[in-house]
Amino acid sequence: MRKVSIFGATGSIGQNTIDLIKRAPEEYEVVALTGARNIEQLAADARALNAQIAVTADDSLLEDLRAALKGSGVIAAAGADAILEAAHRPADWIMSAIVGAAGLAPGMAALGQGSTLALANKESLVCAGKLLLETGRAQGAQILPVDSEHSAVFQALVGEDMNAVERIIITASGGAFRDWPIEDLCDATLDQASSHPNWDMGQRITIDSASMFNKAMEVIETREFFDVAPEQIEVLIHPQSMIHALVGFNDGALMAHVGPPDMRHAIGYALHHPQRRHIPVERLDLAAIGSFEFRAPDDARWPALRIAREVMARGGLAGAVFNAAKETALDGFIAGQLKFTQMSDVVSQVLDRMDAQGGHIDATMTLDNVLETDHLARKAARLAIEQRAG
Ligand code: NAD
Ligand code: MG
Repeated sequence: MRKVSIFGATGSIGQNTIDLIKRAPEEYEVVALTGARNIEQLAADARALNAQIAVTADDSLLEDLRAALKGSGVIAAAGADAILEAAHRPADWIMSAIVGAAGLAPGMAALGQGSTLALANKESLVCAGKLLLETGRAQGAQILPVDSEHSAVFQALVGEDMNAVERIIITASGGAFRDWPIEDLCDATLDQASSHPNWDMGQRITIDSASMFNKAMEVIETREFFDVAPEQIEVLIHPQSMIHALVGFNDGALMAHVGPPDMRHAIGYALHHPQRRHIPVERLDLAAIGSFEFRAPDDARWPALRIAREVMARGGLAGAVFNAAKETALDGFIAGQLKFTQMSDVVSQVLDRMDAQGGHIDATMTLDNVLETDHLARKAARLAIEQRAG
């Protein structure tokens, strides 16, 4: 039996992971499941999968979790430290699907004990890519991409020589506002930004798809994961979300990965790697689909893509500043304090300020420095939001 843990089990990726595990329960021993406020779901899954421990990130919900798990034999725990402790429990395969920088420390802990880390939490690669990858190498742990584009690139590279790779193209649906007049974007509401044309995902990544901050993160994720130069990475708007990525080789060939927009494919690939197993996703009928469309992305509509290039050029801990400022700006938009288009203004402002101050972006990449920089960038972003509101 393979020992597995799922961090962010109650979220969109976590639930899709559980869907796959429940299809072959005899193959898995579930160690830890973690969530935050959805105690009912966390407890139901922990019971159904007979987990050793269930952890909520929210300390105030410990009693609720205990009550929901009563008589099941599953240990209940709460708080960020308990999540970290759960990540130290030995497991063969760990899904990192907490949303945001909160996923970094548990991911590092999982690598520290040599587990295979299935990485959905792109924020940890954006904040601390080199640290994460070096820790994985040092511990003999494997990191497998779960983001659909990166899983697609990973699959297109099987058996290939990285020296023959000229470019990596990741696609983007364009999100909720791809066809809106640009001048209307400043009035986009939370509801409008929270619906995705193709994918069914958590709210935060859905809004990040509309602003293209998600793709900006994924460009940086591509650079970190596949160690290619920023100039080798391209973004292509592909409204159907069926080609997830393409790899261009030095002989002019492009290897494309095509599949339905269903995260169970990428999760299943990481779960069964290096094998392929049957996954219950839709089989595409290309004749019925008829055609695929492509467009160049527009930096005026999506300034996030330009900011991603600046972050890569700045290097060091710029990714940690970028991610923290982006998460805080997103909180501001969700809370109604920022207009949709002001999110990128706040992120740019925080990057400029912290770069000008010195000592942050050029600090050594240790977990402590990344977390400290994350903290300072959030503070700077909150200040920038208040100044705008005031
Ligand atoms: P979600 O919001 O649906 O779920 C997030 C999970 O994290 C939940 O279990 C929640 O309880 C937990 N969580 C939230 N805040 C936490 C905190 N402070 N500490 C501990 N746990 C916390 O998000 P999602 O859409 O499943 O995305 C999860 C991760 O996967 C993100 O990094 C996202 O970018 C990435 N991702 C998601 C998709 C997708 O299709 N949903 C695709 C690619 C990558
Ligand atoms: Mg993606």
